[in-house]
Amino acid sequence: MRNIVAGNWKSNKLMGEAQEWMDGMAGWLASHEGVEVMVGAPAPYLATLASAAPDGLHILAQNVSAEGHGAHTGEFTADMLKSCGVAGAIVGHSERRARFGDTDDKVKAKVQALVDEGLQAVFCCGETLEEREAGRQEEVVHAQLKAAVLELPVDALDCVVVAYEPVWAIGTGKTATSAQAQDMHAAIRGWLTESFGAEKAEGVAILYGGSCKPSNAAELFGQADINGGLIGGAALNPTDFQGVLAGHPELKG
Ligand code: PEP
Repeated sequence: MRNIVAGNWKSNKLMGEAQEWMDGMAGWLASHEGVEVMVGAPAPYLATLASAAPDGLHILAQNVSAEGHGAHTGEFTADMLKSCGVAGAIVGHSERRARFGDTDDKVKAKVQALVDEGLQAVFCCGETLEEREAGRQEEVVHAQLKAAVLELPVDALDCVVVAYEPVWAIGTGKTATSAQAQDMHAAIRGWLTESFGAEKAEGVAILYGGSCKPSNAAELFGQADINGGLIGGAALNPTDFQGVLAGHPELKG
C-alpha cells in the first residue's frame, strides 16, 4: 500500500519562493517517514528543483506532452522530464480538462507516455457539481478512468496514482464529506480490482483532492480507501502542507 501526499502549486510562486518552500520542508522531511511527499511545480523550475530537492521530496510536473519528440513547439515530453530527474506528472487535472483541451484521449496518451518512461502518472478524475446533483458521479469517474487507466497493461499500474478530485470542491473551500469521498474511493478501488486484480488494486494510492487542509485532513485520510491527498491551496506554504501531512495516519516522526 502506498501513502502519498502531493502538493500542486499550479501557476504560483517565483523561482526563489519555490526554493524557500523546499528549504522550509527539508528539516521536516528529514524527521518524518511513512508517507511519500511530492509537489507539482511550474515547468520552468523543474530541473533546478529536481536537482536540489531534499531527500524524500519528489518533484512532479503539472503536465506532459501527449506527443513524442518532434515539431511540437512548447511541449515537453516524458523522457525530457525523466532526463532532469522529475518523478512524474499530474495529468487530467480538471483545470486542464476544462480550459486547456485535455480530452480523455489526450489524458490517456499522457498517462501512457509517463508509464512508458517508468514515471509516476498522478491521474486526476472527478465530477462537476451538475454531474453530482444528477447522481452521475460514479458514471463520470468510471468513464474517465476507463478512458485513461483501465486499459493499461497490468504492470503499468505500479506507475499510476489516482487522484479523485470532485470539481466542485477544488479551490472552493467546499470539501467532500469523508463519507462522500470514501464512497467514490471505494468505487475506484472496485474498478481497479475488476480490471487488474485485488493485489494490484490494493497497491494503488487513491488520493483525495478538493479543499483539503490541516483541519480536515485527518478525517479524510482516516477513511479506508483514502491513501492521501492532492493538495492545492494548502500546499503553498510549508506550515499548512505539514499540517495536512500531519493528518495522515501512516505518518511517523
Ligand atoms: C487541486 O487543484 O488539485 C486542489 C485539490 O486544489 P485545492 O486543494 O486548492 O482545492
